[in-house]
Amino acid sequence: MNYYILTLFPEMVLEGLNTSIIGRAVQKGVIGIHAVNIRDYSKNKHRQVDDYPYGGGAGMVMQPGPVCDAYEDLCRKLGKRPRVLYMTPQGKVFSQKIAQELAKEEDLVFLCGHYEGIDERALSLTVTDYLSIGDYVLTGGELPAMVMIDCISRLVPGVLSNEESAQIESFHDNLLEYPQYTRPEIYEGLRVPEVLLSGHHKNIDLWRRQESIRRTLERRPDLLEHAVLSKKEQEFLEELKEISPERACAQENIVIE
Ligand code: SAM
Repeated sequence: MNYYILTLFPEMVLEGLNTSIIGRAVQKGVIGIHAVNIRDYSKNKHRQVDDYPYGGGAGMVMQPGPVCDAYEDLCRKLGKRPRVLYMTPQGKVFSQKIAQELAKEEDLVFLCGHYEGIDERALSLTVTDYLSIGDYVLTGGELPAMVMIDCISRLVPGVLSNEESAQIESFHDNLLEYPQYTRPEIYEGLRVPEVLLSGHHKNIDLWRRQESIRRTLERRPDLLEHAVLSKKEQEFLEELKEISPERACAQENIVIE
């Protein structure tokens, strides 16, 4: 997977992504992260890329020329026209499902806006997908691009080691992940749940699955509508709903068959 980030702040994305797991994946050559400085395509002697909005109003708008030229130059070098994701609060909200779909691509272009955004004509000429990271407004598209690249990369084969597997995590089956524990066995008087020390894998799996359902009901009940549950799990969920939500969440020890 190769990512191409069209940005006014290349150092921000490169420094942010070249550490930890994603940085290791770059070094291994499993993914490539390339920043293209939109300012390099300015025809202005001061390298200016923004101007006042037609019709008046606050802020500056990124001009269409440098954005389109940066993309067209990239396409010429690659010999293809990859998908262009524009980072915008007006886009579809990014999700694990979208990440799974994007992880299948060979190349992805991330277009980062700044100021009041980018001239609409550049967007209509280049963008294939409008994506947001949530209903709030940031100063630029660099952080959203970094969030998405981090998330998509975890799904690219070879990025995570076996120990870091992305197989069963939050949003898998539309459930949140179960609680995790590590040593020590007792911390500040709080014990690791007994079943996790039992070595009984079937019971551990059952406990984890039930805790996932309990936690999803507590924190993200909206997800349960599309959760993939067995008949028994559905019954377990109904039982949880019958007792008050507070008790359902506080209940530590559950009955293991
Ligand atoms: N005037 C724009 C509007 O109201 O839709 C917001 C511009 S914002 C200040 C500057 C840039 O930050 C945007 O062009 C976009 O690239 C990025 N951005 C801001 N919030 C974002 C979000 N929630 N998700 C993705 N990108 C965002």
